[in-house]
Amino acid sequence: MFKALVLDQVEKQTTSSIRQLNDTDLPESDVIVKVDYSSLNYKDGLAITGKGKIVRNFPMVPGIDLTGTVEQSHDPRYAAGDKVVLTGWGVGEGHWGGMAEKASLKADWLVPLPEGLSGKQAMMVGTAGFTAMLCVQALVDAGITPESGEILVTGASGGVGSVAVTLLAKLGYKVAAVSGRIEQNGALLEELGASRIIDRSVFEEPARALEKQVWAGAVDTVGSKVLAKVLAQMDYNGAVAACGLAGGFDLPTTVMPFILRNVSLLGIDSVSCPRAKRIKAWQRLAELLPDSYYQQACTEVELEQVAEYAEAITNGQVTGRVVIKL
Ligand code: NAP
Repeated sequence: MFKALVLDQVEKQTTSSIRQLNDTDLPESDVIVKVDYSSLNYKDGLAITGKGKIVRNFPMVPGIDLTGTVEQSHDPRYAAGDKVVLTGWGVGEGHWGGMAEKASLKADWLVPLPEGLSGKQAMMVGTAGFTAMLCVQALVDAGITPESGEILVTGASGGVGSVAVTLLAKLGYKVAAVSGRIEQNGALLEELGASRIIDRSVFEEPARALEKQVWAGAVDTVGSKVLAKVLAQMDYNGAVAACGLAGGFDLPTTVMPFILRNVSLLGIDSVSCPRAKRIKAWQRLAELLPDSYYQQACTEVELEQVAEYAEAITNGQVTGRVVIKL
């Protein structure tokens, strides 16, 4: 028997409960993992509260991230005792995920836990941190260097934003952070490496087609009018890595930044990111994130507290990372 958070749907309402399941309840797959930690992302919050159409079939065990120890493997790449990490691939959406003491998973989805990173640390990084790494790598690949100029990070106190600020600062970039919660999180953002913090309201003003050029690069987790404003302020040859929609999925912009300033809008998806790129990104995260990152805001909760935190994350009331101890 093992414990799991299970989502059901009754008359279009999502409910969650803690249940004891048998190993035979697990979906069939290549590798059984004893889960050590999962984490709570915005997407998990939407799934658990039912506020977003994330879950594709019920009953579902949520949890898009997990880390743990292989218990049984039918794949030669993994053996009992191996430490692994998993993010994305629709786990916790269409396939039972990490918020259970056991998970049955495809070997192709797993990444060996990189050396120097504990399971808990990997979940403090989670999908959010992994996505931040993909965004930063996209800017590097686009030729944006610390000499190019200042980099803007929006939604900076969230899971993706806070890791993006940390990674960029560690790589020597000058980072400006946009936040709607400066009073609460300003000091933390400075500790993570932001050299200045700008109130979100400044970026919610309607954008002109082109504004004064300020940013060499940007990581945007917000979308909508904030991303439109960012695009209008990009330097000639600037690049924006866009990964999120915390402020909305629309984009009220014009083609002007693209056709007159050679600005690039780089789309970032972490869910179906190929395995080789994943392994490289996790290794870079293990190398780059300083100890101080892991000492910053992180809340460890039990499975029983997840529903409460899921509500809070969808209301923008969570700072930093929430990890779940199984
Ligand atoms: P999060 O921890 O909830 O952070 C989002 C941050 O955005 C908040 O902390 C807040 O930062 C800001 N924000 C919240 N509501 C806002 C609003 N209405 N308008 C403007 N800003 C707002 O979420 P996350 O895990 O960092 O994820 C951020 C976004 O990226 C989400 O939309 C998520 O779905 C997306 N995401 C995408 C991928 C991918 O593969 N593409 C992967 C992971 C996440 P401040 O308080 O500092 O303003």
